[in-house]
Amino acid sequence: MIKILVVEDELPISDLIDMNLSSRGYQCTCAYDGMRAADLLEENTYDLILLDIMLPQIDGYELMEYIRPMNIPVIFITAKSSVADRVKGLQLGADDYLVKPFAIVELLARVEAVLRRYNKSEKRITVEDVVIDTESRLVKKGGQQVELTKKEYELLLLFVHNKNIALFRETIFEKVWESEYMGDTRTVDLHVQRLRRKLGWNDKIKAVYKVGYRLEV
Ligand code: CA
Repeated sequence: MIKILVVEDELPISDLIDMNLSSRGYQCTCAYDGMRAADLLEENTYDLILLDIMLPQIDGYELMEYIRPMNIPVIFITAKSSVADRVKGLQLGADDYLVKPFAIVELLARVEAVLRRYNKSEKRITVEDVVIDTESRLVKKGGQQVELTKKEYELLLLFVHNKNIALFRETIFEKVWESEYMGDTRTVDLHVQRLRRKLGWNDKIKAVYKVGYRLEV
């Protein structure tokens, strides 16, 4: 499980980040001031730190000096938006910079991008509110485990590896069932229906007329 330390003194923002990252399967720990963050870093290991700059006691810049030797990726989260501040953050070794107020989708995209850069996310695929752990083959939606059959799981992987691409029923059948397609559309349709229902993805896995299906995200 990817562990993320959120260092943010504004409770509503901290809660919002925690809620959204947790629902996508990340394990979040929140620190509300720099001292607490330093203590947590002393005792635990993290895969990523989301770091506010304006903090009580030790500010984000000071904390960054402390974090840098640990080689943990850092995304600064701050109200400071001037170029000078951004440059300072990046010079201190931050991997990215997020300016408040930010959209949750942007936060998630940046978190994923940084984790990918550090090769920490390859075992985990996140699509919207669904998280697939390819090692344990566990699928979670909004933090809740979803039971999929082997074929449903493979069908899901096929869709997420081909996001926004229309897949022919023939292609789906041959990839998932690993046998030649003999024109039996019912098998594919039935499994797509079940997958849609289990994931609540009726509006995401779209039927494409005369072709097959497309995962739209
Ligand atoms: Ca702050």
